Amino acid sequence: MQYPLFSQEPYRTFRKTVRDFVVEEIEPHVDQWERQEHFPNELLKLMAGKNLIGVSLPKDKGGQGLSFWHEVILAEELAKSKLVGWAMSYLAHTNMALPLLVKLASPKQQADILMPAVKGEFYLSLAATEFQNGSDLVSTKTEAVLQGDKFLVSGEKKYITNGSVAKYLITLVRTKSDKNIWSLGLLLVPTDVDKIGITKLKTSGLKTSDTAEIKFLQCEIPKDYILGGSQRGFYYLLNGLMRERLMGAVALNTLAEQVLEQTITYLKDKVRFSEPLSRKQVIRHRVAELASRLEAAKQFTYNVCAGFEKEEQVDQEIIMLKIYCYETSQDIIKECVHLFGAEAFMQNHWLARIYKDSQAFTLAAGTSEVMRDLLAGMMRL
Ligand SMILES: Cc1cc2nc3c(=O)[nH]c(=O)nc-3n(C[C@H](O)[C@H](O)[C@H](O)COP(=O)(O)OP(=O)(O)OC[C@H]3O[C@@H](n4cnc5c(N)ncnc54)[C@H](O)[C@@H]3O)c2cc1C
Repeated sequence: MQYPLFSQEPYRTFRKTVRDFVVEEIEPHVDQWERQEHFPNELLKLMAGKNLIGVSLPKDKGGQGLSFWHEVILAEELAKSKLVGWAMSYLAHTNMALPLLVKLASPKQQADILMPAVKGEFYLSLAATEFQNGSDLVSTKTEAVLQGDKFLVSGEKKYITNGSVAKYLITLVRTKSDKNIWSLGLLLVPTDVDKIGITKLKTSGLKTSDTAEIKFLQCEIPKDYILGGSQRGFYYLLNGLMRERLMGAVALNTLAEQVLEQTITYLKDKVRFSEPLSRKQVIRHRVAELASRLEAAKQFTYNVCAGFEKEEQVDQEIIMLKIYCYETSQDIIKECVHLFGAEAFMQNHWLARIYKDSQAFTLAAGTSEVMRDLLAGMMRL
């Protein structure tokens, strides 16, 4: 069922603009980029050239000033390319880092960093996770010690999307020795600063994303690179993650829909024991069940998007989406691999690749277990 809003102009025209871009600039290269485990940096600039970065950001911050629904359409159409790794890099830049800068950057940071980032001149990255602490961000060890007009930053971050391609890392740092959320800040760290070590990590999926480990060995960062004060970093980070999780749900619903649609076509064509597999009751029922779960995920997501667009308090619902949509898309992809048979087990099969990618869905931006715990807390259980 199509969400009614999307049948209206100007959404239809915008969707066509994005679709055309994906068909011309992304889809012809997907297999090659996946094989090379790489995406071209210029892709971001190409998107900016079509006004496809920061579409819902205010015009005075370099954005297009369009509604949040345009971001939703953009995420859906990018997901259709099935270039899952790069879509993740793109969303981390546009739906995590950029909104944080819109909210927190000083006029100088806006001019020097936000504006060129919206023009696609470079990637931004959010560096919060550490190997030692993982999900437990309150235990962040990377510290930024103020000395005169500079912070001295030391510590390590791991699994950071865009970490080795970004020009700036929005880094979660401990600014005071007390271990609580009020001693954490977000610091802009330029990746060309002295005494930084950045290593691109080899991952088992999402090969067209960029995942990195970063070591800060007493890096000197100007004091005014702190974003929004030195004590509210954790609060801003959690807020920013809500938007990223919501957009992730939008993208994963579409990805799962694509996978399911292609699987249905395949099952209708593939004849076994004298009839198409789609006529076998056990398979029909499985597909019907998956389609029902997907539709529930989509309609729930659109409802939450509507609340988010109106700036309603939808944090609890976003956590529900982070659990339900991310797990549902993972389940659909896994089931479809099975329904495709051995062909989807072959190394370069598109579905084998997406299956590998999908294993990260319930880890990145908060694991399912931690999300359930967070939700239970919000429900005051
Ligand atoms: C592809 C990818 C991209 C990422 N991009 C970024 C990024 O851009 N920036 C960034 O900062 N981080 C990023 N991350 C890191 C991600 O946020 C972490 O993987 C996540 O927070 C979990 O940390 P961890 O992997 O160390 O798992 P751990 O915290 O070590 O957890 C291990 C297991 O224990 C479970 N567990 C942990 N705590 C609890 C609990 N309290 N109760 C029950 N079970 C629990 C977890 O659910 C998990 O199954 C990325 C990760 C991936 C996979």
